[in-house]
Amino acid sequence: QRRAARAPKESDLKTAGYSRVAKLKAREANRRKDWCEKTSTMLARTYDVVRFEKLNIKTMTRSAKGTIEEPGKRVAQKAGLNRAILAQGWGLLRQRTGHKAPGRVEDVPAPYTSLRCSACGWIDKNSRKSQAEFVCSSCGFTCNADTNAATNVAAGQGGIPRPRRTAGAGGTTAATSRSSVREPQPK
Ligand SMILES: [Zn+2]
Repeated sequence: QRRAARAPKESDLKTAGYSRVAKLKAREANRRKDWCEKTSTMLARTYDVVRFEKLNIKTMTRSAKGTIEEPGKRVAQKAGLNRAILAQGWGLLRQRTGHKAPGRVEDVPAPYTSLRCSACGWIDKNSRKSQAEFVCSSCGFTCNADTNAATNVAAGQGGIPRPRRTAGAGGTTAATSRSSVREPQPK
């Protein structure tokens, strides 16, 4: 693509270069579609109920650049995440599985699936030691963080966090803009 961009205007080199880029991109898209078809067929044939974590793909893939007045933060990291999600064809997989297993696909709300202990149900941000490790602060259950979250989703368990109380008062504290149960973010 870079070579084609640098080639002289309206040259054969430029045309040939861009046509090669287009072919590669088409192959990538076909590969992605093929994977989605095979995987959704496998899921529909193998399982009675298929549960997907309900991720807002539109929000997650929204441009991180922001506006001139409010420039976005962590643009490079978010762009990487966007690519990863889109490359996996997440939305397409969910859609095709729904077509092939009508009435047997459920969406589990995403919040707290990664902070809930899949063994005892306790929800605590302190259970999430790092991006990869889950250690329950209540029962001591240890698991890979992604596996723990997937187990919660498979069980249809997102969870509702405990109301936050001020010490001894029994009242609830006002919510801050930054949630205290926000999971650790990738570095
Ligand atoms: Zn636990």
